[in-house]
Amino acid sequence: MSNIRYDIAIIGAGPAGMCAAIFAARNKKKVILCEQLKLEGAKIVISGGGKCNLTNKAELKSFISEFGTSAKFIAPTFNNFFSNELISFINNLQVPTACEDGFHIFPASKKSSDIVKALRKECKRLSVTILTKTKCNKLIFEGEQLAGIETEQSIIYSPKVIIATGGKSYKKCGGTGGGYPLAKQAGHKITKLFPAMVSLITEQIWPANCSGLTVPDASFFIDHPRYQNNVKNGSIMFTHTGITGLRVLDISGDIADLLQQNKTVAVRINFHSDMLSHDWFTLIKKWKRDSPKNRIHKLISSKIPQRLANILTVESAIDIGTKVDKLSEEQITNLIQNMTNYSMVINGTEGFDRAMVTRGGVKLKDISPDTMESKLLPGLYFAGEVLNVDGPCGGFNIQWAFSSGYTAGTAASR
Ligand SMILES: Cc1cc2nc3c(=O)[nH]c(=O)nc-3n(C[C@H](O)[C@H](O)[C@H](O)COP(=O)(O)OP(=O)(O)OC[C@H]3O[C@@H](n4cnc5c(N)ncnc54)[C@H](O)[C@@H]3O)c2cc1C
Repeated sequence: MSNIRYDIAIIGAGPAGMCAAIFAARNKKKVILCEQLKLEGAKIVISGGGKCNLTNKAELKSFISEFGTSAKFIAPTFNNFFSNELISFINNLQVPTACEDGFHIFPASKKSSDIVKALRKECKRLSVTILTKTKCNKLIFEGEQLAGIETEQSIIYSPKVIIATGGKSYKKCGGTGGGYPLAKQAGHKITKLFPAMVSLITEQIWPANCSGLTVPDASFFIDHPRYQNNVKNGSIMFTHTGITGLRVLDISGDIADLLQQNKTVAVRINFHSDMLSHDWFTLIKKWKRDSPKNRIHKLISSKIPQRLANILTVESAIDIGTKVDKLSEEQITNLIQNMTNYSMVINGTEGFDRAMVTRGGVKLKDISPDTMESKLLPGLYFAGEVLNVDGPCGGFNIQWAFSSGYTAGTAASR
């Protein structure tokens, strides 16, 4: 086992670790970056469907508010390094960015690998030593003082260490939860961990019959007192096992949390957010008057995709083919209830292997928000998803990884 000495050792070459390495090296520090996988930035490569949604155009205040209870902790970091700083940083590495929909920012090439290549090139230019296939197993100490890290191949002496190991989701891309034992070694507590930004498994089996179908204008909320006022608007896509979609992914962490205490959790869905019960009553009344011999499952397909319209008709105890003038009051009430307030029962998520982020992580109260330094062990810093910070879909998590990487890298090199 060889011994080597550096100013700063960084564990994990995701966006947080690579960004920390670059800013520390720009401050003339001798930096080493250890990555357990064969290549750096595995999650960046698969992010945003291979295009990497880097960040977005939300104003600072509304961006921060999307992080829920961790908003207060992350504010100083985003005050120092926010979307404009990230875009300039990436552009200066010769990767132009684009914002085609007016909100989400991607590399103009739509290739996430361009970002990884540029970060790797900048690390090389700054003489950052990158050791891939190098897993860090523990922190090492001299007396009570942090002295470096131990990998499977070597001991790396370094008075400053940055843990940027990500969460425990998407194992094949490095989400092994490798940072939690290291944090615990320094006395840090890890909060409960949940898969987040993950598809939901439903108790109903009919979504499988609609697999691949998207309902574009749904609205929905978690049927629990804590979330009933938090209505989400967006598309729902059916899968072989349940439901997904960007806004569905956003509520999945809360559902995973609730599923720890309850066997099932219901999501109330309006399949056409512009149509409330009274709108449907008025419309069905009009159909009864103007086109009484038309079939109800065909009529409602003017507002709801046909395959779903068929299922909701059957779920409302109405035979497919029933003419609108033959519907009983009870059938109409049931159908409208199912179209506007359907109770979709969730009994699981696709789990950590399919979750885009991990909810939970290193407890924030023991970390200084201005520097990302541990309050328990001077010289130890954290950055990225390993901390108990997670945001919704749309570039929030990668922005957090870069911003906290900047803060940790800059503070550690002071
Ligand atoms: C499919 C998918 C799509 C996504 N799309 C987006 C998107 O478009 N926009 C967005 O904002 N977010 C997206 N995310 C989330 C985003 O990728 C992560 O939040 C972000 O990568 C976290 O960055 P990080 O640097 O903290 O951790 P990671 O990117 O997970 O990097 C951590 C690195 O540490 C390494 N490591 C772990 N333990 C050790 C150890 N003991 N020793 C050495 N190395 C170790 C890992 O191998 C890994 O390479 C997506 C995630 C997934 C899975």
